Amino acid sequence: IMPGITHWNHPRFFAYFSNSSVPVAVLAEALCATLNVNAMLWRTSPAATELEDVVLAWLRQLLGLPVAFHGIIYDTASIAGFTALAAARDSLGLEIRERGMAGRDIAVPRVYITQHTHSHIEKAAIALGIGRENVVVIESDDKYQMDAAALERQIRHDVAHGLRPMCIAGTIGTTSMTSVDPIAELARIAKEYHVWLHVDAAYAGVAAMLPEHRGLFAGTQHADSLVCNPHKWLFVPMDLSVLFVRKPEAVRKAFSLVADYLVTPETGVHNYMDYGLQLGRRFRALKLWFVLRTYGARGVRDRIRAQIGFAQELAQWIEGEPDWEVSAPHPFSVVCFRYAPAELFAAELDARNAAIMEHVNATGKTFLSSTKIDGKTVLRIAIGNEGTTREDVALAWQLLKEAALETSG
Ligand code: PLP
Repeated sequence: IMPGITHWNHPRFFAYFSNSSVPVAVLAEALCATLNVNAMLWRTSPAATELEDVVLAWLRQLLGLPVAFHGIIYDTASIAGFTALAAARDSLGLEIRERGMAGRDIAVPRVYITQHTHSHIEKAAIALGIGRENVVVIESDDKYQMDAAALERQIRHDVAHGLRPMCIAGTIGTTSMTSVDPIAELARIAKEYHVWLHVDAAYAGVAAMLPEHRGLFAGTQHADSLVCNPHKWLFVPMDLSVLFVRKPEAVRKAFSLVADYLVTPETGVHNYMDYGLQLGRRFRALKLWFVLRTYGARGVRDRIRAQIGFAQELAQWIEGEPDWEVSAPHPFSVVCFRYAPAELFAAELDARNAAIMEHVNATGKTFLSSTKIDGKTVLRIAIGNEGTTREDVALAWQLLKEAALETSG
């Protein structure tokens, strides 16, 4: 098995969104498997349900979200996002849950994204019968942020043509380059046109714990839903994604369907099978509880702050080298950059950067991934592993500089 493993839990894994499973979370997973509860109903594991409520109330406070937000655990952001969009669709009042969409004269629901939005939003729209044509890509500016004026123009146009704006999907920390959509502006538009605002903060959400980063989250308090993935940057192993919703009732209305054999007499409790497609649910809250109890708010903040610091220092090193360039703003712990010496033709740069990455990865000392920004191949270093040190980042940078020389000619 081991030769075929890609070592995601290694401190020098810098690809995609690097993550980590800290020892205490490994212990929690073992206990979870040992207890083996199914938290579909409150009575099928009261402790699992109650702990989910407690631990997500802590997370909500840490992220600075208003008390009105209720958190629910899903496996991944893709499923959390799907659930939010399903609630948004149900909230249109078009009776789609009862009557479906086909063969009816109803306004066509529309979803608004940018080219940098993660693909799960479009997948959710496909699965919900919205259709890809009704997922409208709003242009973004030179900072890769949604152009709010263009969004408003599009919504007005849609309304004028009898279409039904359903959901604006804004992102804090886009997948390629971690750009941040202007959520406060999107919230104003969402309110004015009665559209559901979903904020995808799957990766960057935890940075809201830092006072110095809170500004990037302005407006999230007005969202209808927000997703944050502890399995990305909060040191818990795959998988654990949290959806915070302002009106949990909207999610319940969209999904609840209680078979005779699942009816229970309890009132005033959460039966989490009512809040999504999934019936059986494992005890995911345990590992988040272990991590928060072990490190505490300060310990978690210190770690996230340190990682953002490593990324900012890396960006400075890159900017200090004449043959290298930073390719996009880097507000969090991800830096996109490329080798771009003046003597190379633009057409050669993509292949050269790809070669540099392969060369570095072949050392086995670190693992990087790449993406495209403005059509150009760029390399990415994503810092998110709890064990990563400044020396790990420095070694990756050293290997990159060596690879740039070794791949010439
Ligand atoms: N949203 C963003 C911004 C992401 O970067 C990703 C994955 O990288 C996702 C959502 C999907 O996350 P998950 O793998 O939890 O479905």
